[in-house]
Amino acid sequence: MPRRQWLRTRIRRLKFHLILALLNTVLVRIFIYVPFLLWVVYVEQQGWGISRWLGLNNWLELGLSILVLDLFDYFWHRANHSFSFLWRFHKAHHSDTEMDVSTALRFHPGELILSSLAKATWVLIWGPTAIAWFVFEALISLCAQFHHSNIDLPDFLEKPIAKIIVTPRFHTSHHIVERRYGHSNFSTIFSFWDNLFGSYCQLNFPADRELSSEAIGLPEKRELAFSLRSWFTEPFSQRNLRIEDD
Ligand SMILES: [Zn+2]
Repeated sequence: MPRRQWLRTRIRRLKFHLILALLNTVLVRIFIYVPFLLWVVYVEQQGWGISRWLGLNNWLELGLSILVLDLFDYFWHRANHSFSFLWRFHKAHHSDTEMDVSTALRFHPGELILSSLAKATWVLIWGPTAIAWFVFEALISLCAQFHHSNIDLPDFLEKPIAKIIVTPRFHTSHHIVERRYGHSNFSTIFSFWDNLFGSYCQLNFPADRELSSEAIGLPEKRELAFSLRSWFTEPFSQRNLRIEDD
């Protein structure tokens, strides 16, 4: 049930995203996730964090941890669009010129490092159990794959689900070139954060089905969207540094 027609051949994109996924999984995840997991267990053993002080346990702790961590993630994603230093890395995700499940793999290693530092702080503030953290991370990955996919849910499913969970239709707005749409819909698991904090924007559905080949992604450097070298070095380019100096 594709939501958008495929405008170009997908082979080049899929190859590109597969290479990034392998690199991120092998290099970054092993080096980040091992110390990160030790940090989560250490914080749990010390009894640090709001959740520990409140004495939460079992299902209540699991449910509230997922809710609170997803709220932190919402603000972190917003920060990635608001601060030019973070945007340099996050735009590597947004430079994809189409959107499907493989877009969920397209993250710059620099962003993964920065976001794991942010997540280490959330762990300290909230103090989730290691199990709750693991379930949250698994949900984040699963939800990201779902809402980047090129699937169209029928209206009778889309409307009730999108009120609670981020759907592909909901997240497409976030990848539209036009910033009126792109600077909205930041939620990852639960969609109601955008409604609650005034960042929800609805993309017109019939128009979405007829999106032009230039509608998704960033307005600049589209021809370099699948150049490995340019993609990796873009956050460190002089042009970016100058924008920050201004
Ligand atoms: Zn974004």
